Amino acid sequence: AAKRRGKNNFQYYTEEMHEAISRRMILEKHLRTALQEEQLKMYYQPKVDPFSGQITGMEALIRWHDSELGEVSPAEFIPIAEETGLIIPLGAWVLRTVCRQNMKWQQEGVAFLRVAVNLSPRQFHQQQLVEQIIDILHETGLESKYLELEITEGALMDKTDETMNVLRQMKEIGIFISIDDFGTGYSSLEYLKQFPIDCLKIDKTFIDEINKQSMQSNIAQVIITLGNSLNLKVVAEGVETAEQLDFLKNHRCDEVQGYYFYHPLPIQDFEQLMRSKRGNGCQATLLQ
Ligand code: C2E
Ligand code: MG
Ligand code: MG
Ligand code: MG
Repeated sequence: AAKRRGKNNFQYYTEEMHEAISRRMILEKHLRTALQEEQLKMYYQPKVDPFSGQITGMEALIRWHDSELGEVSPAEFIPIAEETGLIIPLGAWVLRTVCRQNMKWQQEGVAFLRVAVNLSPRQFHQQQLVEQIIDILHETGLESKYLELEITEGALMDKTDETMNVLRQMKEIGIFISIDDFGTGYSSLEYLKQFPIDCLKIDKTFIDEINKQSMQSNIAQVIITLGNSLNLKVVAEGVETAEQLDFLKNHRCDEVQGYYFYHPLPIQDFEQLMRSKRGNGCQATLLQ
């Protein structure tokens, strides 16, 4: 009986594996088409000053609605794009689309905000990334101080000589650089000190830890202290509750982002929000 069950289990797993593989292949095929036919969209999630509630920036997040597959999460398709190399054209599309949109918002007087674009590891380590960014800024007319790049710890701590070189070039151009999902990877404190970076984004898992019972000390607090001592700005992602916000304010976190304030918004909703803010006499802060 055991033998038979073993055999059945084996069959069960192969079927499951087969399903996973075919979904992956279908996703890859559809993603290629979506990119060619411009079916991908960017949403924008405001970043907020926790003390004044003013919108201080935004993060661009990709969205994909496929007619057959429905809504596919970037958490699922970005890794596939990474593995297949599709991230290179996709990443270029994201950068160009976001810079163009931000420039348009400035020209129309909708918003003067820095926009953050996520770079996945392969995208960050691609040859000619810096040249590509310079071209896109030139082509769209966006000033470099209105562009921020969010790079994960893992991507930065890999090939550190090359990373240092790329970061220095980006810094020279005047781009703002953030470490995304900070605390989940393995940062060398030595490199953290040496790299010309501007900001640490505390990963949501540490924000989730904040609640009334664990107000004493937690990793979020440690990261804020670390950021302050390295002269870096600290941003909290995934803020969902008033308790989390209070905690972050008490510990002087510089910026917050999360559903408690705003979800990622499609272009029209973002524009409506910015216009309503202005109507309230609460204008979005201009960058210094
Ligand atoms: P991330 O850069 O760490 O982005 C934060 C994620 O948390 C986003 O998920 C955002 O929608 C979500 N989020 C924001 N506030 C809250 C909150 O209060 N509660 C909860 N539960 N979630 C919140 P999303 O949009 O699904 O993106 C997932 C990941 O996919 C991103 O993580 C990023 O690594 C990647 N990604 C998204 N867009 C792009 C892109 O354009 N290019 C690249 N290379 N990666 C992207
Ligand atoms: Mg991010
Ligand atoms: Mg993040
Ligand atoms: Mg995250």
